[in-house]
Amino acid sequence: MTRYIDVHDMQALVRQHGLAPMMSEMAHAIREDFLRWEDFDKSPRTANHSRDGVIELMPVSDNALYAFKYVNGHPKNPLQGLSTVMAFGVLADVATGYPELLSELTITTALRTAATSAMAAKALARPESTTMALIGNGSQSEFQAIAFMTQVGIRTLRVFDVDPKATDKLVANLRPYTDAGTLDIVRCASTREAVRGADIVTTVTADKTNATILSADMIEPGMYLNAVGGDCPGKTELDADILNHAKVFVEYEPQTRIEGELQQMSAGFVTYPLWKVLAGTATGREHAAQVTLFDSVGFALEDLSALRYVHALSQRLGVGSTVHLVPNMANPKDLFACATAARPVLRKAA
Ligand code: NAD
Repeated sequence: MTRYIDVHDMQALVRQHGLAPMMSEMAHAIREDFLRWEDFDKSPRTANHSRDGVIELMPVSDNALYAFKYVNGHPKNPLQGLSTVMAFGVLADVATGYPELLSELTITTALRTAATSAMAAKALARPESTTMALIGNGSQSEFQAIAFMTQVGIRTLRVFDVDPKATDKLVANLRPYTDAGTLDIVRCASTREAVRGADIVTTVTADKTNATILSADMIEPGMYLNAVGGDCPGKTELDADILNHAKVFVEYEPQTRIEGELQQMSAGFVTYPLWKVLAGTATGREHAAQVTLFDSVGFALEDLSALRYVHALSQRLGVGSTVHLVPNMANPKDLFACATAARPVLRKAA
């Protein structure tokens, strides 16, 4: 039978295990897989675009596991009570093709994106970084804040969103940390004000347009830019000139060329693979005054890592259920009997 993790199960995992430990352990799983980069069969995701959004399929595999994620991006969705990003996915056994896990991936995507951001920041930001500007205070933002606080050492957040209600929500959700004195939040009146003096700038806005959330004159020497929101053709957040003056790191370059800030640059523009920096075979930041930039778009391998982590955690904590997603038959050649049975002929769960 296929293990099934729905949104309630994911809530139970977060309740029982804790958000910060899950993001830290997920970052560890992602790092393990990035260090085996060449073992994976990789491709840019398949995207179906429409006027207001995109629906994408993200497959990846090695010789043991296959994963895919279904994910959308519809920035106007919150106006009709839906999330901008919604996702689910499957983890399957490569030897047989059997789907081992069917899981919600909306919450998991926020966890894995923040885990990946923190993992990249640890490699590319100045180690003494304590202040982060967080531009865009929607669904992903608290996860980014907590991962940077617990994994990177951020103590002050300078926040801005064009929607003040989104910032109200972020401030309320992070109150346990501000009340405990582990985090200061500074509400700012503009992106420019939020960015001033920050060690790290995270942009996680949603708008299906070539936006200029950050312009080149806002960037200070030594900043680390974690550009998360530009992840689709025609949807970017940074002034192209910022890339001309930064060292730019990517997940999987063929996909980032299509979807990232990189879509604004010529084919000859040089980038550096994050996995090589993690593996110690490429240099990350070269000096304290260098501006480094992670052009994050979200790569399928991060979802495979997240799925195998969620699978193991759910088994360990006894969370989730099983579903008959594919038939388990006594005679695997007798699909007809399975289809026409008066009573179920499906084998009990293993
Ligand atoms: P969301 O709609 O919940 O939140 C986005 C926020 O951005 C909103 O509160 C909106 O008011 C704000 N915003 C829009 N334009 C702005 C501007 N000019 N200045 C300041 N704030 C602005 O969306 P979300 O789920 O938080 O996702 C944010 C973005 O991150 C989306 O574009 C999504 O596609 C992307 N994303 C990327 C990855 C990745 O791996 N790189 C993963 C998940 C989501």
